[in-house]
Amino acid sequence: MSISFRKELKDIAAYKPGKPIEDVKREYGIKHVIKLASNENPLGCSPKAVEAVKKAADQLAIYPDGNCTLLKEALANKLGLKPTQILPSSGSDEMIDQIAKTFMNKDDEIILADITFPRYITTTKMMGAKPVIVPLKNWTYGLDGMLNAITEKTKLIWLCNPNNPTGTMFSEEELLNFLDKVPSNIVVVYDEAYNEYVTRDDFPRNSIKLLDKYPNIIIMRTFSKIYGLAALRIGYTMASEEIIHNINKIRGPFNVNTMAQVAALAALEDEDFVKRSYEMNKEGKEYLYKELNKMGIEYVPSETNHIFMNVNKDANEVFEALQRKGVIIRPITGTWIRVTIGTQEQNEVFIKCLNEVI
Ligand SMILES: *Cc1c(COP(=O)(O)O)cnc(C)c1O
Repeated sequence: MSISFRKELKDIAAYKPGKPIEDVKREYGIKHVIKLASNENPLGCSPKAVEAVKKAADQLAIYPDGNCTLLKEALANKLGLKPTQILPSSGSDEMIDQIAKTFMNKDDEIILADITFPRYITTTKMMGAKPVIVPLKNWTYGLDGMLNAITEKTKLIWLCNPNNPTGTMFSEEELLNFLDKVPSNIVVVYDEAYNEYVTRDDFPRNSIKLLDKYPNIIIMRTFSKIYGLAALRIGYTMASEEIIHNINKIRGPFNVNTMAQVAALAALEDEDFVKRSYEMNKEGKEYLYKELNKMGIEYVPSETNHIFMNVNKDANEVFEALQRKGVIIRPITGTWIRVTIGTQEQNEVFIKCLNEVI
Protein backbone atom coordinates (compact mmCIF):
# COMPACT_ATOMS: atom_id res chain seq x y z
CA MET A 1 0.00 0.00 0.00
CA SER A 2 1.30 3.45 -0.75
CA ILE A 3 0.19 6.91 0.23
CA SER A 4 -1.89 8.78 -2.28
CA PHE A 5 -1.86 12.46 -3.11
CA ARG A 6 -4.92 14.51 -3.94
CA LYS A 7 -5.72 13.93 -7.57
CA GLU A 8 -5.82 17.68 -8.23
CA LEU A 9 -2.04 17.75 -7.75
CA LYS A 10 -1.47 15.60 -10.83
CA ASP A 11 -2.12 18.53 -13.09
CA ILE A 12 -0.10 21.11 -11.12
CA ALA A 13 3.58 21.89 -11.70
CA ALA A 14 5.66 23.30 -8.84
CA TYR A 15 6.63 26.93 -9.31
CA LYS A 16 10.02 27.14 -10.97
CA PRO A 17 11.83 30.16 -9.60
CA GLY A 18 14.71 31.81 -11.42
CA LYS A 19 18.18 30.90 -10.22
CA PRO A 20 19.44 33.03 -7.35
CA ILE A 21 22.30 35.40 -8.23
CA GLU A 22 24.83 33.45 -6.14
CA ASP A 23 24.05 30.17 -7.95
CA VAL A 24 24.57 31.78 -11.35
CA LYS A 25 27.90 33.26 -10.23
CA ARG A 26 29.12 29.88 -9.02
CA GLU A 27 27.80 27.85 -11.93
CA TYR A 28 29.22 30.05 -14.70
CA GLY A 29 32.26 31.31 -12.81
CA ILE A 30 31.31 34.96 -13.29
CA LYS A 31 31.62 37.86 -10.88
CA HIS A 32 28.89 40.20 -12.00
CA VAL A 33 25.36 38.97 -12.24
CA ILE A 34 22.21 41.07 -12.52
CA LYS A 35 18.74 39.73 -11.94
CA LEU A 36 16.03 41.25 -14.09
CA ALA A 37 13.75 38.25 -13.68
CA SER A 38 11.39 38.90 -10.78
CA ASN A 39 10.24 42.51 -11.09
CA GLU A 40 12.03 43.55 -7.92
CA ASN A 41 12.79 47.19 -7.22
CA PRO A 42 16.40 47.90 -8.29
CA LEU A 43 16.54 50.77 -5.75
CA GLY A 44 15.87 48.34 -2.92
CA CYS A 45 13.43 49.65 -0.36
CA SER A 46 12.92 52.71 1.80
CA PRO A 47 15.75 53.19 4.34
CA LYS A 48 12.97 53.85 6.83
CA ALA A 49 11.74 50.29 6.37
CA VAL A 50 15.24 48.94 6.99
CA GLU A 51 15.45 51.00 10.19
CA ALA A 52 12.10 49.69 11.35
CA VAL A 53 13.18 46.08 10.79
CA LYS A 54 16.40 46.64 12.74
CA LYS A 55 14.49 48.16 15.61
CA ALA A 56 12.09 45.21 15.72
CA ALA A 57 14.93 42.67 15.89
CA ASP A 58 14.54 42.32 19.65
CA GLN A 59 11.00 40.99 19.19
CA LEU A 60 11.87 37.76 17.43
CA ALA A 61 10.71 35.59 20.33
CA ILE A 62 7.25 37.15 20.34
CA TYR A 63 4.44 36.15 17.98
CA PRO A 64 3.43 38.89 15.56
CA ASP A 65 0.22 40.87 15.99
CA GLY A 66 -2.09 38.48 14.20
CA ASN A 67 -4.52 41.29 13.47
CA CYS A 68 -1.90 43.66 11.97
CA THR A 69 -3.68 46.39 13.93
CA LEU A 70 -1.33 49.31 13.28
CA LEU A 71 -0.83 48.52 9.63
CA LYS A 72 -4.56 48.14 9.02
CA GLU A 73 -5.18 51.47 10.72
CA ALA A 74 -2.51 53.21 8.68
CA LEU A 75 -3.85 51.75 5.45
CA ALA A 76 -7.44 52.59 6.40
CA ASN A 77 -6.46 56.23 7.03
CA LYS A 78 -4.52 56.49 3.83
CA LEU A 79 -7.16 54.83 1.66
CA GLY A 80 -10.33 56.12 3.27
CA LEU A 81 -11.60 52.67 4.27
CA LYS A 82 -12.52 50.96 7.51
CA PRO A 83 -9.83 48.68 8.99
CA THR A 84 -12.39 45.87 8.70
CA GLN A 85 -12.31 46.23 4.89
CA ILE A 86 -8.57 45.54 4.77
CA LEU A 87 -6.62 42.33 5.22
CA PRO A 88 -2.80 42.14 5.07
CA SER A 89 -1.31 38.82 3.98
CA SER A 90 2.04 37.14 3.53
CA GLY A 91 2.38 38.49 0.01
CA SER A 92 -0.42 38.56 -2.54
CA ASP A 93 0.60 34.99 -3.29
CA GLU A 94 -0.81 33.85 0.02
CA MET A 95 -3.95 35.91 -0.50
CA ILE A 96 -4.57 34.29 -3.88
CA ASP A 97 -4.61 30.92 -2.09
CA GLN A 98 -6.86 32.25 0.64
CA ILE A 99 -9.33 33.66 -1.85
CA ALA A 100 -9.42 30.32 -3.63
CA LYS A 101 -10.04 28.50 -0.34
CA THR A 102 -12.76 30.97 0.60
CA PHE A 103 -14.77 30.71 -2.61
CA MET A 104 -13.98 27.78 -4.86
CA ASN A 105 -15.90 24.56 -4.80
CA LYS A 106 -15.13 21.57 -6.92
CA ASP A 107 -16.27 22.08 -10.53
CA ASP A 108 -16.94 25.81 -10.12
CA GLU A 109 -15.87 27.62 -13.27
CA ILE A 110 -13.10 30.15 -12.79
CA ILE A 111 -12.31 32.62 -15.59
CA LEU A 112 -8.75 33.77 -16.19
CA ALA A 113 -6.47 35.00 -18.96
CA ASP A 114 -4.11 32.67 -20.82
CA ILE A 115 -0.98 34.73 -20.22
CA THR A 116 -1.09 36.22 -16.75
CA PHE A 117 0.13 35.65 -13.20
CA PRO A 118 0.54 31.85 -12.90
CA ARG A 119 -0.64 31.58 -9.30
CA TYR A 120 -4.25 32.11 -10.41
CA ILE A 121 -4.43 28.85 -12.31
CA THR A 122 -2.44 26.87 -9.76
CA THR A 123 -4.80 27.71 -6.91
CA THR A 124 -7.82 27.16 -9.13
CA LYS A 125 -6.64 23.65 -9.97
CA MET A 126 -5.64 23.04 -6.37
CA MET A 127 -9.26 23.52 -5.32
CA GLY A 128 -10.53 21.18 -8.01
CA ALA A 129 -12.30 24.06 -9.73
CA LYS A 130 -12.38 24.36 -13.50
CA PRO A 131 -10.19 26.99 -15.16
CA VAL A 132 -11.88 28.68 -18.13
CA ILE A 133 -9.06 30.28 -20.06
CA VAL A 134 -9.66 33.37 -22.18
CA PRO A 135 -6.91 34.47 -24.59
CA LEU A 136 -5.41 37.94 -24.34
CA LYS A 137 -6.15 40.25 -27.29
CA ASN A 138 -3.06 42.09 -28.51
CA TRP A 139 -1.36 40.98 -25.28
CA THR A 140 -4.08 42.81 -23.31
CA TYR A 141 -6.90 41.43 -21.17
CA GLY A 142 -9.87 40.76 -23.44
CA LEU A 143 -12.66 41.74 -21.07
CA ASP A 144 -15.37 41.08 -23.65
CA GLY A 145 -14.07 37.55 -24.10
CA MET A 146 -14.24 37.11 -20.35
CA LEU A 147 -17.85 38.31 -20.26
CA ASN A 148 -18.69 35.85 -23.01
CA ALA A 149 -17.14 33.03 -21.00
CA ILE A 150 -19.53 33.55 -18.07
CA THR A 151 -22.00 30.72 -17.46
CA GLU A 152 -24.26 29.73 -14.58
CA LYS A 153 -21.34 27.85 -13.10
CA THR A 154 -18.96 30.81 -13.05
CA LYS A 155 -17.80 31.54 -9.53
CA LEU A 156 -14.86 33.90 -9.82
CA ILE A 157 -12.85 35.93 -12.34
CA TRP A 158 -9.15 36.77 -11.95
CA LEU A 159 -8.09 40.16 -13.35
CA CYS A 160 -4.56 41.56 -13.32
CA ASN A 161 -4.23 45.26 -14.17
CA PRO A 162 -1.69 46.11 -15.39
CA ASN A 163 -0.91 42.57 -16.42
CA ASN A 164 2.14 40.54 -15.53
CA PRO A 165 3.99 39.46 -17.75
CA THR A 166 2.79 41.55 -20.71
CA GLY A 167 2.79 44.93 -18.93
CA THR A 168 -0.48 45.98 -20.59
CA MET A 169 -3.48 47.63 -18.93
CA PHE A 170 -7.18 48.16 -19.49
CA SER A 171 -8.81 51.52 -18.83
CA GLU A 172 -11.19 52.68 -16.14
CA GLU A 173 -13.96 52.85 -18.72
CA GLU A 174 -13.35 49.25 -19.78
CA LEU A 175 -13.27 48.09 -16.17
CA LEU A 176 -16.51 49.87 -15.24
CA ASN A 177 -18.24 48.57 -18.32
CA PHE A 178 -17.09 45.07 -17.40
CA LEU A 179 -18.13 45.27 -13.75
CA ASP A 180 -21.57 46.54 -14.76
CA LYS A 181 -22.10 43.44 -16.87
CA VAL A 182 -20.74 40.80 -14.48
CA PRO A 183 -23.59 39.25 -12.45
CA SER A 184 -23.22 40.35 -8.83
CA ASN A 185 -22.92 36.78 -7.51
CA ILE A 186 -19.59 36.35 -9.30
CA VAL A 187 -16.44 37.36 -7.41
CA VAL A 188 -14.07 39.61 -9.35
CA VAL A 189 -10.50 39.59 -8.04
CA TYR A 190 -8.62 42.67 -9.18
CA ASP A 191 -4.85 42.35 -8.74
CA GLU A 192 -3.11 45.74 -8.79
CA ALA A 193 0.46 44.64 -7.98
CA TYR A 194 1.91 47.21 -10.40
CA ASN A 195 -0.59 50.08 -10.11
CA GLU A 196 2.01 52.51 -8.76
CA TYR A 197 4.03 52.24 -11.98
CA VAL A 198 1.25 53.16 -14.39
CA THR A 199 1.86 56.28 -16.49
CA ARG A 200 -1.33 56.36 -18.57
CA ASP A 201 -4.13 58.74 -17.54
CA ASP A 202 -6.99 56.40 -18.31
CA PHE A 203 -5.95 53.82 -15.69
CA PRO A 204 -8.53 53.24 -12.90
CA ARG A 205 -6.57 55.34 -10.37
CA ASN A 206 -9.16 55.25 -7.68
CA SER A 207 -10.12 51.61 -7.77
CA ILE A 208 -10.95 51.74 -4.07
CA LYS A 209 -14.14 53.64 -4.73
CA LEU A 210 -15.34 50.61 -6.69
CA LEU A 211 -15.83 48.84 -3.36
CA ASP A 212 -18.84 51.06 -2.67
CA LYS A 213 -20.58 50.16 -5.87
CA TYR A 214 -19.51 46.55 -6.43
CA PRO A 215 -19.66 44.37 -3.29
CA ASN A 216 -18.33 41.44 -5.34
CA ILE A 217 -14.89 42.95 -6.06
CA ILE A 218 -11.69 42.10 -4.18
CA ILE A 219 -8.69 44.39 -4.73
CA MET A 220 -5.18 43.08 -4.09
CA ARG A 221 -1.98 45.11 -3.67
CA THR A 222 1.54 44.21 -2.61
CA PHE A 223 4.59 45.71 -0.92
CA SER A 224 6.84 43.46 -3.04
CA LYS A 225 7.05 45.62 -6.12
CA ILE A 226 7.42 49.41 -5.95
CA TYR A 227 7.89 49.33 -2.14
CA GLY A 228 10.74 46.85 -2.57
CA LEU A 229 9.87 44.55 0.33
CA ALA A 230 9.65 41.24 -1.58
CA ALA A 231 11.83 39.38 0.94
CA LEU A 232 9.43 40.09 3.78
CA ARG A 233 6.30 38.76 2.05
CA ILE A 234 3.56 41.30 2.58
CA GLY A 235 0.60 42.54 0.63
CA TYR A 236 -2.93 43.67 1.46
CA THR A 237 -6.40 43.12 0.17
CA MET A 238 -9.47 45.33 0.21
CA ALA A 239 -13.05 44.14 -0.04
CA SER A 240 -16.43 44.34 1.68
CA GLU A 241 -16.46 43.64 5.40
CA GLU A 242 -18.38 40.45 4.66
CA ILE A 243 -15.71 39.11 2.31
CA ILE A 244 -12.85 40.07 4.65
CA HIS A 245 -14.70 38.47 7.56
CA ASN A 246 -14.95 35.19 5.66
CA ILE A 247 -11.35 35.17 4.42
CA ASN A 248 -10.34 35.76 8.03
CA LYS A 249 -11.91 32.43 8.98
CA ILE A 250 -9.42 30.42 6.97
CA ARG A 251 -6.38 32.65 7.46
CA GLY A 252 -3.44 31.36 9.50
CA PRO A 253 -3.45 33.15 12.87
CA PHE A 254 0.00 34.78 12.51
CA ASN A 255 0.39 34.88 8.75
CA VAL A 256 2.13 38.26 8.53
CA ASN A 257 5.40 38.40 10.46
CA THR A 258 6.46 41.29 12.68
CA MET A 259 9.28 42.49 10.41
CA ALA A 260 6.90 42.66 7.48
CA GLN A 261 4.35 44.65 9.49
CA VAL A 262 6.80 47.25 10.79
CA ALA A 263 8.56 47.59 7.44
CA ALA A 264 5.30 48.06 5.55
CA LEU A 265 4.18 50.68 8.03
CA ALA A 266 7.42 52.62 7.57
CA ALA A 267 7.41 52.14 3.79
CA LEU A 268 3.90 53.54 3.50
CA GLU A 269 5.08 56.83 4.96
CA ASP A 270 8.02 57.19 2.61
CA GLU A 271 6.23 58.63 -0.39
CA ASP A 272 9.48 60.10 -1.65
CA PHE A 273 10.94 56.61 -2.15
CA VAL A 274 7.91 55.53 -4.17
CA LYS A 275 8.19 58.65 -6.29
CA ARG A 276 11.89 58.09 -6.99
CA SER A 277 11.21 54.48 -7.92
CA TYR A 278 8.44 55.54 -10.29
CA GLU A 279 10.67 58.16 -11.96
CA MET A 280 13.61 55.82 -12.37
CA ASN A 281 11.36 53.14 -13.84
CA LYS A 282 9.88 55.60 -16.31
CA GLU A 283 13.30 56.79 -17.46
CA GLY A 284 14.59 53.22 -17.69
CA LYS A 285 11.58 52.29 -19.78
CA GLU A 286 12.22 55.14 -22.24
CA TYR A 287 15.88 54.15 -22.51
CA LEU A 288 15.03 50.51 -23.18
CA TYR A 289 12.37 51.44 -25.77
CA LYS A 290 14.93 53.56 -27.58
CA GLU A 291 17.56 50.81 -27.62
CA LEU A 292 15.06 48.09 -28.58
CA ASN A 293 13.85 50.30 -31.43
CA LYS A 294 17.41 50.64 -32.68
CA MET A 295 17.81 46.87 -32.55
CA GLY A 296 14.50 46.33 -34.32
CA ILE A 297 13.14 44.29 -31.42
CA GLU A 298 9.39 44.20 -31.05
CA TYR A 299 8.11 45.00 -27.56
CA VAL A 300 4.77 45.68 -25.92
CA PRO A 301 4.50 49.17 -24.36
CA SER A 302 4.50 48.62 -20.61
CA GLU A 303 2.62 50.20 -17.72
CA THR A 304 4.67 48.20 -15.21
CA ASN A 305 8.31 47.73 -14.20
CA HIS A 306 8.93 45.07 -16.82
CA ILE A 307 8.93 44.84 -20.61
CA PHE A 308 7.58 41.95 -22.65
CA MET A 309 9.58 41.58 -25.86
CA ASN A 310 9.92 39.35 -28.88
CA VAL A 311 13.54 38.29 -29.33
CA ASN A 312 12.74 36.31 -32.49
CA LYS A 313 14.59 33.31 -31.15
CA ASP A 314 13.56 30.57 -28.78
CA ALA A 315 12.99 32.32 -25.44
CA ASN A 316 14.61 29.52 -23.45
CA GLU A 317 17.75 29.67 -25.58
CA VAL A 318 18.00 33.42 -25.15
CA PHE A 319 17.42 33.00 -21.42
CA GLU A 320 20.29 30.48 -21.20
CA ALA A 321 22.63 32.57 -23.32
CA LEU A 322 21.93 35.72 -21.29
CA GLN A 323 22.38 33.82 -18.06
CA ARG A 324 25.84 32.67 -19.16
CA LYS A 325 26.68 36.34 -19.52
CA GLY A 326 25.35 37.11 -16.07
CA VAL A 327 21.94 38.54 -16.95
CA ILE A 328 18.93 36.69 -15.56
CA ILE A 329 15.61 37.33 -17.33
CA ARG A 330 12.39 35.32 -17.65
CA PRO A 331 11.43 33.34 -20.77
CA ILE A 332 7.65 33.45 -21.15
CA THR A 333 6.31 31.86 -24.30
CA GLY A 334 7.64 31.09 -27.78
CA THR A 335 10.08 33.84 -28.63
CA TRP A 336 8.88 36.26 -25.94
CA ILE A 337 10.80 37.16 -22.81
CA ARG A 338 10.05 39.41 -19.84
CA VAL A 339 12.72 41.76 -18.57
CA THR A 340 12.50 43.81 -15.39
CA ILE A 341 13.46 47.47 -15.85
CA GLY A 342 16.61 47.97 -13.78
CA THR A 343 18.92 50.83 -12.93
CA GLN A 344 20.42 52.68 -15.89
CA GLU A 345 23.61 50.65 -15.47
CA GLN A 346 21.74 47.34 -15.40
CA ASN A 347 19.67 48.34 -18.41
CA GLU A 348 22.84 49.12 -20.35
CA VAL A 349 24.37 45.76 -19.44
CA PHE A 350 21.19 44.02 -20.52
CA ILE A 351 21.13 45.78 -23.89
CA LYS A 352 24.80 45.04 -24.51
CA CYS A 353 24.36 41.35 -23.67
CA LEU A 354 21.13 41.07 -25.66
CA ASN A 355 22.95 42.52 -28.67
CA GLU A 356 25.63 39.87 -28.31
CA VAL A 357 23.12 37.06 -27.92
CA ILE A 358 20.80 37.77 -30.85
C1 LIG B 1 4.51 39.92 -7.98
C2 LIG B 1 3.05 39.75 -8.13
C3 LIG B 1 2.21 39.43 -7.06
C4 LIG B 1 2.63 39.11 -5.74
O1 LIG B 1 3.47 39.24 -5.06
P1 LIG B 1 3.72 38.95 -3.55
O2 LIG B 1 5.19 39.08 -3.47
O3 LIG B 1 3.24 37.57 -3.23
O4 LIG B 1 2.97 40.01 -2.82
C5 LIG B 1 0.85 39.33 -7.27
N1 LIG B 1 0.34 39.53 -8.46
C6 LIG B 1 1.10 39.84 -9.51
C7 LIG B 1 0.46 40.05 -10.80
C8 LIG B 1 2.47 39.94 -9.38
O5 LIG B 1 3.22 40.21 -10.45
